[in-house]
Amino acid sequence: MAHKKKKTVKVKLCGETYSILWQQLYGVCIRPGEQTRGEICINYTVPEKEILKTVIHEGLHAVCPKMKHSEVYRLDKELGKLLWAAGYRRVKK
Ligand SMILES: [Zn+2]
Repeated sequence: MAHKKKKTVKVKLCGETYSILWQQLYGVCIRPGEQTRGEICINYTVPEKEILKTVIHEGLHAVCPKMKHSEVYRLDKELGKLLWAAGYRRVKK
């Protein structure tokens, strides 16, 4: 499947600004600090359901930075199933 380069968009979460970056590596959340800008990186080369879980996962790191990683994984899996079952998908642009 061909992937077009996606435009970077920004989102404000809990009062902090994050750029959403689409990349071909792992997902990661970089919280904004004095030396860093907020970034949520999403690997778009995996299946669509995995992308949905990654968005939830990295979003949880942004809004619940003290949450245990095991809990983040549990929630991305369960909420990913819910949103997928409810029909949530990315809009193709
Ligand atoms: Zn994580």
